[in-house]
Amino acid sequence: MSSSESLFTRARRLIPGGVNSPVRAFRSVGGAPFFTVRAEGATLETADGRELIDFVCTWGPAIHGHNHPAIREAVRDALDRGTSFGTPNPLEVEMAETIVAMVPSIEKVRMCNSGTEATMSCIRLARGFTGRDKIVKFSGCYHGHVDSLLIKAGSGALTLGHPDSAGIPASFAQETIVLPFNDPDALDAAFAEFGERIAGLILEPYPANVGLILPKPGFLQHVREVCSRHGAVLIFDEVMTGFRVAPGGVQERENIRPDLTALGKIIGGGLPVGAFGGRAEIMDRLAPLGPVYQAGTLSGNPLAMAAGLAALKLLRELDPYARLDAMGRKIKAALDEGAMLRGIPLQTPQVGSMFSFYFSEAPVVDYATATASDSTRFKDVFHTCLQDGVYLPPSAFEACFISTAHEGAAIDRACEVLSKAIRLL
Ligand SMILES: *Cc1c(COP(=O)(O)O)cnc(C)c1O
Repeated sequence: MSSSESLFTRARRLIPGGVNSPVRAFRSVGGAPFFTVRAEGATLETADGRELIDFVCTWGPAIHGHNHPAIREAVRDALDRGTSFGTPNPLEVEMAETIVAMVPSIEKVRMCNSGTEATMSCIRLARGFTGRDKIVKFSGCYHGHVDSLLIKAGSGALTLGHPDSAGIPASFAQETIVLPFNDPDALDAAFAEFGERIAGLILEPYPANVGLILPKPGFLQHVREVCSRHGAVLIFDEVMTGFRVAPGGVQERENIRPDLTALGKIIGGGLPVGAFGGRAEIMDRLAPLGPVYQAGTLSGNPLAMAAGLAALKLLRELDPYARLDAMGRKIKAALDEGAMLRGIPLQTPQVGSMFSFYFSEAPVVDYATATASDSTRFKDVFHTCLQDGVYLPPSAFEACFISTAHEGAAIDRACEVLSKAIRLL
């Protein structure tokens, strides 16, 4: 078996940057990525024969830990019957029934193959439903690599967005309004100016792609009210939070009904799956019933449905949320203790099995406060932890995830390692 180093050399010759998704290249922490040859429970086994306690959890999906036997069995069972049919299959119906039973606001749902497809389709549906063009998003909320959503704030007060990637026409960006999270006044001002032209507003209700940011009390309710008042479609991107913070995601915890919800990650049980759903009146505008086109050769794939259904069934049977939260609070306490002993300011947002830490004096409430934190210190902690067998996301601005498989020895060891890494700064 080749080592990570030689695999990365081969990869860089043929794959841009050597990776199939940029953050995996370790650019923001420095050094070269390791390659994984096997994953089991809370642990990754690298091509170099190391075992690492994993807090990336394949960027969110692995809430039951890696290679869970029930999910593996479900995929194996489906595999015996064929990998793809191109016709409707019974597992899609079971999946739709499961999602509608678990996610409070979803009356109808369609499956797709990634979170990006889910948010892209929600945006198109909001536009098709309202006959309006503009979309509102928040700085620091990531919704996949959809052209209309890969937009950053422009300069000046109420200016429209700028492309956040080469290859996105400025004219697309002009249809996206980018606002700071947790700022009701900015939201009111944008709707006062553009309200009649806004098709929808999309947000991560607990933003988890610049680290973890929690909404201020009342902010999500305010967003709901403003959208209702102006006839804009409210889209919750729960690709990350869906099934992770509660069976029904943030909308269940916070008791808010969005009009549409984008799902992904956990819903695929480790296979490539996305889904979007919501009010039947809006969903029925999709083809073949309505004029909004959306499709997918492999959508509702039987292997993917089997894996996802097994993952969701485990959540319903085990109801692991209290256990996951207890582990989250343990980690938070270890981080806080390390920071206190070292005498440095640290923000440690945590909700259930999601957490992050920012070297910052000020509370982190939005993109500006998150990115003002000291990411150099994060790099040092990242590398110390990696040396000590704990794998954190290779960027200061990614959330960490805990799985049920971390319970016991893995979480205790990780607490020691994290706390020590901070004390050593
Ligand atoms: C991961 C993520 C996406 C994109 O999902 P992909 O499956 O990577 O396309 C969209 N929104 C949020 C909130 C995410 O965390």
